[in-house]
Amino acid sequence: ALTAGIVGLPNVGKSTLFNAITQAGAEAANYPFATIDPNVGMVEVPDERLNKLTELVNPKKTVPTTFEFTDIAGIVKGASKGEGLGNQFLSHIRQVDAICQVVRCFVDENITHVSGKVDPIDDIEIINLELILADLETVNKRYQRVEKLAKQKDKDALVEFEVLSKLKTGLEEEKPARAIEFTEEQLKIVKGLHLLTSKPMLYVANVGEDEVADPESNPNVQKVKEYASNEGAEVIVICARIEEEISELDQEEKEMFLDELGITESGLDKLIKASYSLLGLATYFTAGEQEVRAWTFRKGMKAPQAAGIIHSDFERGFIRAETVSYDDLVEAGSMTVAREKGKVRLEGKEYIVKDGDVIHFRFNV
Ligand code: GDP
Repeated sequence: ALTAGIVGLPNVGKSTLFNAITQAGAEAANYPFATIDPNVGMVEVPDERLNKLTELVNPKKTVPTTFEFTDIAGIVKGASKGEGLGNQFLSHIRQVDAICQVVRCFVDENITHVSGKVDPIDDIEIINLELILADLETVNKRYQRVEKLAKQKDKDALVEFEVLSKLKTGLEEEKPARAIEFTEEQLKIVKGLHLLTSKPMLYVANVGEDEVADPESNPNVQKVKEYASNEGAEVIVICARIEEEISELDQEEKEMFLDELGITESGLDKLIKASYSLLGLATYFTAGEQEVRAWTFRKGMKAPQAAGIIHSDFERGFIRAETVSYDDLVEAGSMTVAREKGKVRLEGKEYIVKDGDVIHFRFNV
């Protein structure tokens, strides 16, 4: 499964947020085959459409789809040089698909800050620089090898050498790889290098308890937003401490609590949704009398591949995908009416599944 890693300097609120994630955690009974790793927190992806489908179909059971966060502790200045748990930290980041960087925006004199003062841009730059330095090492090693081949006019090597030169220059200017422009063909080569700064990044601004209703009043949040917008990155504002409290509540209590705080959606729910879309993920549904269920797929997947997410037999024996869009189904009010109106399509092997499709797969066993 795809996962987003949670990183940040010490004392910014990572553990507090991760605690909220594991406590809010997905109902284990629904996902019997999920692996249990103490550094992984599995959450259900909030989706209004699933509630609406449940009303329409009235199934015995409703199962949301899930998303995983991985807790990556231990970054300090000098990590790329192996300081602290540096190397271990970097290898953990290598294994995640997106990075959520927690940035301390709350001011609390009782909680020490590693640099002695709360300066979110300084903090972001410390982390980003470590990742850039680690990538620069990867690129330089490859650069030296490919340079020799390029001098011998090896065609592939010449193409790769151009990519490596561009990366080297960019990284030396302290630009992350994702901010350097490449052609489609070059991007394939960049992908093969598995660079840390190629991974999509999201900033999580951790604010104080009294700031959640009006986060813009916190100047640190504004700074983070400005920094992120220069990179084209997104910022999610949360208060980790409040999320920890919310994670202990049931749905009804949670809504009341959010109401009191003057917000409509919890920070964690926003973070889940943003991470999900950052990874290019989308949701389709199956809706039967037994079970209404949401499934995660990657945008661009064709019907058989998407079917394979449910079971490999569905992919192998795929015949057709009986498909209706969520909007059409809700407008029709029932599957029967949707069918009468001609809104249910029979899609074949080449169909590219869309977010919100409600699908019944037909397959041979
Ligand atoms: P980590 O080192 O990044 O994992 O940070 P922790 O989650 O352990 O948090 C460090 C300290 O900051 C703890 O005492 C937390 O209770 C506190 N903290 C975390 N989030 C908040 C917050 O939103 N507001 C305030 N006031 N304190 C927080």
